[in-house]
Amino acid sequence: MSRAVDLFFLFSTEKNFVREKDFVLNLLENLGFSIFERGYLKIPSNAFSPSRKQFNAGLILSYLSQLKKSEVALGITKEDIYFGDLNFVFGLASPTSLLALVSLLRLDPVFYGFPQDEVLYFSRIEKEITHEIGHVFGLLHCNNPLCVMSFSNSVFDVDRKTKDFCQTCLKNFRKKSV
Ligand SMILES: [Zn+2]
Ligand SMILES: [Zn+2]
Repeated sequence: MSRAVDLFFLFSTEKNFVREKDFVLNLLENLGFSIFERGYLKIPSNAFSPSRKQFNAGLILSYLSQLKKSEVALGITKEDIYFGDLNFVFGLASPTSLLALVSLLRLDPVFYGFPQDEVLYFSRIEKEITHEIGHVFGLLHCNNPLCVMSFSNSVFDVDRKTKDFCQTCLKNFRKKSV
């Protein structure tokens, strides 16, 4: 039995996900999901903070909760998102509502002035989506720096960890996700 996920591409200005779409679909399949593509959706303007020039990840999650039809909903965006006091977040998840959001913006080497590097970019996307899906199923941050559930404050942290759950997190993930 596989779990179902609603997949949304959320945009405000940047709505081109052509490079990333198939990769995300494959990844979700590999994580054991059957996928319902829910298309491209404009992020409600009330989620935008004019002073921060960023979107409030919590408000986007509550928007997703209204649209969710499957067990889990995942939103992918290229807008900059924040939560609480953090300058930015790569993603946010709610284990109680089974929702996750990942921003690709700061995972792209181009954002930091580096040349396009698809291998690096996609490896970061894999880690951050896996990380947020782990949170959806109740996994907490892990102290093992190689584990995909270790906390990432910067892309350096993302690049340091692997795309895999450590043994303990994997056991918990399997227990909770089937
Ligand atoms: Zn986390
Ligand atoms: Zn772990």
